[in-house]
Amino acid sequence: MRIIRPIDMKALVLNSKDNVATAIKELGENTDVSVKIGEEWKEIRVKQPIPFNHKFAFKRILKGQEIIKFGECIGRATSDIEEGEHVHIHNVEAYDEAFDEGEDIGGIVMGSFESEKKLKVDNLLKILDECKPVDLSWTYYSGMTQIPVLPPPRISWWKKYPDFPIREWEEPSGFKVEKIEMATHCGTHVDAPSHCCKGYDDEVTCEGQWDIDEIPLEHLFGRAVIIDFSNIEKLHKVTKEETVNWEKTYNIRIREKDIVVFHFGWDKYFGDQSIFIKDYPSLSVEVAKYLIKRGVYGVGVDTPDIDGPGNEPLAHRSLFENNIYVIENLANLKDYANNTHFIIVSPIKIRPDMQRRGGAGGAPARVFMFA
Ligand SMILES: [Zn+2]
Repeated sequence: MRIIRPIDMKALVLNSKDNVATAIKELGENTDVSVKIGEEWKEIRVKQPIPFNHKFAFKRILKGQEIIKFGECIGRATSDIEEGEHVHIHNVEAYDEAFDEGEDIGGIVMGSFESEKKLKVDNLLKILDECKPVDLSWTYYSGMTQIPVLPPPRISWWKKYPDFPIREWEEPSGFKVEKIEMATHCGTHVDAPSHCCKGYDDEVTCEGQWDIDEIPLEHLFGRAVIIDFSNIEKLHKVTKEETVNWEKTYNIRIREKDIVVFHFGWDKYFGDQSIFIKDYPSLSVEVAKYLIKRGVYGVGVDTPDIDGPGNEPLAHRSLFENNIYVIENLANLKDYANNTHFIIVSPIKIRPDMQRRGGAGGAPARVFMFA
């Protein structure tokens, strides 16, 4: 019995109806290639160099005959094609883009598993297509609203078109490039679990609490549960009971892996520094503990922080100790509250120091969902 290790294979035929093989390596002119067609092996010498993922005939194909690949007709020969000849746009009239070499790489190399995956991606896209993407983030700009203990955000052009010309090319071009100086907790941002740790001086312990670039990607997307508490009083701290009642009223049970977002309607004050950073509602430590018990991945608010102005960061700390991140300064939740949506939380990866524990305690984030 003939055995060719997958690593030694040079070309593939996936269906016995096929009349072309696909090179899975770049093949030089006159390379001898063994291809398995059904249960039979056949030796073919390729007549021209065949680029990776391109096709060659493993039997004679006459002008006008169909080109069959993976059991499907992908085009018609525009001239006679000899065994071992490159089958490409010079001798094939393609039926559709499926002929495009680049499209088939996955399918050829990985077989049916990859085709199944392609189907999943298509299905996912179909579902997302029916949803509306909603941006939950603020734009960053100089002087934007933020709590006053942080350095004022400065965002400017480092250079802009006339100052940054490139003339060497045929078509002279100008670029614009910005520079940013701001706190990582400015605007819409994610607090990493390492943002707040217990203790002072040398006693600070936050062993095991993730820095921003350590939050696993799987925790950064999923089901958003948007809770509407826009009717509560200023400075009110949401209780566990209110949260449980909300779940009952809307028949939405907060569950493992959820990203729970509280809509206080506070985003309408963003831009007005005199209101936004004062008297905003927040979460009690009991709610934090309840969410920890439910196994959520993240907690978001449309206010500057989850503990309320001037309060000890009790909710922050409980969540952080359980590696639950916090999203602050969210926007645009109003029309999507009291429901669940698919959310993506995308903080940028920052490390002030490349050493261990050198990662950032927060980062600006683009947060959006499909509603
Ligand atoms: Zn923060």
